[in-house]
Amino acid sequence: MMKRPHTAYFRFYEELNDFLAPAQRRQTLCYDFEGHPGIKDPIEAFGVPHTEVDLILVDGTSVGFNHQLQPGERVAVFPTFESFDISPLVKLRDRPLRHTAFVVDANLGKLARRLRMLGFDALYDRRYRDDEIADIAALERRIVLTRDRRLLFAKRISHGYWLRSTAPDEQVREVLNRCDLWRQIRPLQRCLMCNGVLEWVSKAEILDHLQPKTRLYYEVFFRCAGCGRIYWEGSHVADMRERYLGAALAAKEAPE
Ligand SMILES: [Zn+2]
Repeated sequence: MMKRPHTAYFRFYEELNDFLAPAQRRQTLCYDFEGHPGIKDPIEAFGVPHTEVDLILVDGTSVGFNHQLQPGERVAVFPTFESFDISPLVKLRDRPLRHTAFVVDANLGKLARRLRMLGFDALYDRRYRDDEIADIAALERRIVLTRDRRLLFAKRISHGYWLRSTAPDEQVREVLNRCDLWRQIRPLQRCLMCNGVLEWVSKAEILDHLQPKTRLYYEVFFRCAGCGRIYWEGSHVADMRERYLGAALAAKEAPE
């Protein structure tokens, strides 16, 4: 096979190296090509989903995904920056989505429940197919959370995150860090089972549905607008505090 006539040089920074083969990490990589491919093609050919990329510099100048690769160009690819200001440069996604909402890949039910427990809007169904997830993300402007990086190659997904960990509690921390959500934790906002919105309900109205001890010890109750399930502070907030806000972060697994 004939060698492709042109070469460009790529370097991936910080956690984008997670997507590269070990031998490719933290070094300049040659990319041979013909014609003028869009810059997204070689980036994804190296295995890096476009949703993970926040800044591309070509010979020192920031470009968008519409940039066509030229022979000899040196391309530096950066992930989302959390800790330092790059505002003079053109970022690919200048805005976080205004309303933070997720669609969670099938088989990540524990992550979805934990996000709901913290008050975040997290759609999940274990029967979701990849194309459904991409459709929901595009239509409802949701952030895709997945362990399958190929899913993030879908063009219609603008915001997504590939989870590094397989442990649900660690995944929650990854998401909170990545999306900078630690200050937006609001327990008792979302139904753990159906993602419905919780509404305040008077104790008198639901008294008959309460177990004797709950009736005795709790005064403030919420009801899911979706499925009618009743929540109160003791039901999961203490558990959540222990998991994510207290000292015992790596505490035991709660029964699912
Ligand atoms: Zn519900």
